[in-house]
Amino acid sequence: MVLAQLGGSISRALQQMSNATVIDEKVLNECLNEITRALLQSDVQFKLVRDMQTNIKKIVNLEDLAAGHNKRKIIQQAVFNELCKILDAGKPSFTPKKGKPSVVMFVGLQGSGKTTTCTKYAYYHQKKGWKPALVCADTFRAGAFDQLKQNATKAKIPFYGSYMESDPVKIAVDGVDRFKKENCDLIIVDTSGRHKQEAALFEEMRQKPDLVIFVMDSSIGQAAFDQAQAFKQSVAVGAVIVTKMDGHAKGGGALSAVAATKSPVIFIGTGEHMDEFEVFDVKPFVSRLLG
Ligand code: GDP
Repeated sequence: MVLAQLGGSISRALQQMSNATVIDEKVLNECLNEITRALLQSDVQFKLVRDMQTNIKKIVNLEDLAAGHNKRKIIQQAVFNELCKILDAGKPSFTPKKGKPSVVMFVGLQGSGKTTTCTKYAYYHQKKGWKPALVCADTFRAGAFDQLKQNATKAKIPFYGSYMESDPVKIAVDGVDRFKKENCDLIIVDTSGRHKQEAALFEEMRQKPDLVIFVMDSSIGQAAFDQAQAFKQSVAVGAVIVTKMDGHAKGGGALSAVAATKSPVIFIGTGEHMDEFEVFDVKPFVSRLLG
C-alpha cells in the first residue's frame, strides 16, 4: 500500500467509526483493526503497529470515558498522536549553523540515492545563503566521482575528489581541509555505502563529522529496519533522509526505521531533480497523510 493510500485507509476507518451511532468496544476494535491492517500493508514494522494499538486502547478506555466525552475526537486524536510517535525520534538531530564550518557525512547502501541526495542537501542550503561543498570519498564505485562532479557542476557547488587516490580517508581529510580553508560552512562527504569503509572513515578523519546522515530508499519495505540498525552499529547515525517518496514505494518501512536509528527523518526526496527535496516534519506530514 503506498503512503497516499495508507492515509486514505486510516481516514476511512476513522470516518466509519465516526458514523456509528454508538461507539462501543466492537466499533473501536473494528476501527483499530482496519488501521493496523493498513499500516502493516504499508510495511510499518509489526512491533510498532502492535504497540500503537495497545497504546490507543489504553488512552481510549471506553468504560472510563463519561457519557459527555467526545469519544470520536479522543480516538481521532489518539490515532494522530500515535502515528506521530512512530515517526518521531524523540530528539532533534544536530543542525549545522550557517557561517560555522560543519562536516556532514552521508552513508547508505549503493543505489539508495546517496549521491543525488548529497547534492540536493547542498543545493537546498546554498539557496538559503550557505556555502556548501561536496567531497567524494567513494573510491569503491567506478564513476562515483564523475557522478558527483556532474551534479555539483550543475548546481555550481565546489567539489573535491580524485581519480587516482584509492584511500577514502585521505580524500575526505584533504577535501575537508581544503574547503575549511575556503570558508565553506557545510562540507558534505559522500561515501561508498560499505559499512566497514564508513566506520574507518568516521574513526580516522581528523575532524570527526558533526553529523552522519543515513540515506534510505523508501521502497525497501520491511528490510528497512535491519538495514538502519546495521548502519547505526557501524557509525553514529544522527539523522535520516528517505528517498524516492515520489514513486510507488510503501514508505512505511523506511519511515519507521527512525525507531531503529532513533534519529529523526529530516528531509524526504521526492524526485530525481535537484529541488525535489522537502523538509520533513512529523506533525504536518501526518496531518497531510490523514487529509
Ligand atoms: P547512490 O548509489 O546511493 O549514490 O544513488 P544515486 O544517487 O546514484 O541514485 C540512484 C538512482 O536513484 C538515480 O537514478 C537517482 O536519480 C534516483 N533517485 C535518487 N533520489 C530519488 C528520489 O527522491 N526520487 C526518485 N524518483 N529517484 C531518485
